[in-house]
Amino acid sequence: MSDCIFCKIASGDIPAKKAFEDDDMVVFHDINPVAPVHLLAIPKKHIASLADAEPADALVMGKLLQTGARLAVEQGCTDGFRTLINTGRVGRQEVYHLHIHFVGGPDVLPPML
Ligand code: 5GP
Ligand code: ZN
Repeated sequence: MSDCIFCKIASGDIPAKKAFEDDDMVVFHDINPVAPVHLLAIPKKHIASLADAEPADALVMGKLLQTGARLAVEQGCTDGFRTLINTGRVGRQEVYHLHIHFVGGPDVLPPML
């Protein structure tokens, strides 16, 4: 998707502070963090929203959850964190490329996004 900002982050055309990258996915820091740790995990494949994910996407979706959780703990969320996927208009989704938020930090109760 040529006009998708997260596709451009995935391809390196737009810079982001990346915490992890492999052939299937990227984890990077949210540009407007709401807590000391605020990571976004995305598939490199353009999937517009959770509602658009297909059975073949299940493996990468599991990788997003497992890798994002590992990085959140490594970055200081040792007592837990919040994990959120906003989907569609009612879900207040702003960027239409599937992404999972990992939000937390030591001794922080992060807001619901
Ligand atoms: P949502 O679509 O779930 O509402 O949230 C999109 C998130 O992407 C927001 O938290 C916003 O701060 C973040 N975001 C939007 N554009 C960029 C960007 O260009 N770079 C980074 N690192 N984060 C972004
Ligand atoms: Zn995209």
